[in-house]
Amino acid sequence: MNNNQTIQIIGAGLCGSLLALRLGQRGFNVEVFEKRPDLRKVDISAGRSINLAFSNRGIKAMNMVGIQHKAEPLCIPMHGRMLHDIEGNTFLSPYSGKENEYINSISRTDLNALLLNEAEALDNVTIHFNHKCTSVDFENKISYFYKYEDKTEFSKAADVIIGTDGAGSVLRKSYYLEKKFLFSFSQDYLTHGYKELSILPAENGGFKTFKNALHIWGRDSFMLIALPNLDGSFTVTLFLSYEDGEYNFNNLTTPERVTAFFSTYFKDALELMPNLLDDFFKNPTSPLGTVKCSPWHYKGNTLLLGDAAHAIVPFYGQGMNASFEDVTEFDKLLDENFTDWESLFKAFETDRKKDTDAIADLAIDNFHEMKGHVNNAIFREKRNLEMAFEKTFPEAYASKYGLVTFNENIGYREAMLRGRAQDKAILNMLTDGDIETPLKLDNKTWLEHTLKQVQAETE
Ligand code: FAD
Repeated sequence: MNNNQTIQIIGAGLCGSLLALRLGQRGFNVEVFEKRPDLRKVDISAGRSINLAFSNRGIKAMNMVGIQHKAEPLCIPMHGRMLHDIEGNTFLSPYSGKENEYINSISRTDLNALLLNEAEALDNVTIHFNHKCTSVDFENKISYFYKYEDKTEFSKAADVIIGTDGAGSVLRKSYYLEKKFLFSFSQDYLTHGYKELSILPAENGGFKTFKNALHIWGRDSFMLIALPNLDGSFTVTLFLSYEDGEYNFNNLTTPERVTAFFSTYFKDALELMPNLLDDFFKNPTSPLGTVKCSPWHYKGNTLLLGDAAHAIVPFYGQGMNASFEDVTEFDKLLDENFTDWESLFKAFETDRKKDTDAIADLAIDNFHEMKGHVNNAIFREKRNLEMAFEKTFPEAYASKYGLVTFNENIGYREAMLRGRAQDKAILNMLTDGDIETPLKLDNKTWLEHTLKQVQAETE
């Protein structure tokens, strides 16, 4: 594609800033408009997930733009899930039986700031903060903006406009409000919302609980999770129904009820959170939803990327990773011989949408798995068996979680299909007694035979 063109990007979040950097590296003139203030100068973290699980697909994108060595120091490795039962006993369930397969906790602000710094260092990339896009005339490739500083409105044309403006995308809204083409859109909310809380650092600045894990207090119909931060704190997230159950967001309205809820279900966490009530009543409760839509593009004029095209619930830790992978996949097509944007956008969407639909569905599945199944005996047996397969035959086996999270060379859809077939086979074989229990995990011959049985079932 001819890189003398100007590409306008709406939204300088994680996806938009990576896209700006990559297109800038390719020599395009890039102009980015972000509605919020510059997060490198103003703290705007309130109400958004403070840290994120960052894994192979995201790392691949950082390698593409040559900055993984700068992202790595921002990461805290999390080797597994630390499961907390109701009595406060803990159990570490590794994410993989293979060496070097782990996920990372990373600060949203630090990662976004890194991407902004790198993009802004390029002469051909300009980023305007405090500029809110109000609508897009996608037929004529003109965006309309409101500038907070002087309360003025203006419009800006470009050769191509890309909306990376997140789950509430204005470009996407323009698609369905204008009704100029057949645009399908769905937004499905969970009946659960989330609230962020925190475990502050210990007095000596250290971590109050085990650092290198994603902590989970799964209680079937609700759960609490915690991810570590570099300053010794943990960001804790409560996922709870708005209105169902004895305790829910709508009826946790007094300090006494919140304390009663936490002392009944999350006693060991409560001991680490003397600041609970402050956080609980200060921080917002936010909804969780899945957005699917199509098409993502209008002719060769405009395109949606990242959450604007496919917002998902956070339970696979893949929303940002998938948004980064959008940019890697888009970038690959720029190397092919497309002569017009429309063909490139079409090819991108044809390839990509099946994968983003798959991760959206997997993320919902994982919600149920994290809340409940991780505590279930048969689920644990399956995990132990899969871990032993991965450890003993690393080339021959990867669990569904491993295929989704650690295999950046296959798409989410393929990972989902292979992973689901394996899950089904193992769970059925354990239930029907086709896999002998107790499992002989130290016996290589037994493991090899069992792996062959599982592979035969999934073929
Ligand atoms: P966003 O990060 O939402 O960025 C959109 C940007 O556009 C923002 O800067 C916004 O200010 C700007 N914008 C919006 N409207 C306008 C406008 N009208 N004009 C100009 N600018 C505009 N993903 C993971 O991979 N791992 C995780 O562990 C994880 N945990 C999560 C936990 C929670 C609770 C939530 C809610 C999400 C989580 N995610 C996670 C998902 C992840 O946050 C998103 O997928 C990711 O932020 C998407 O990036 P984006 O750039 O597409 O959208």
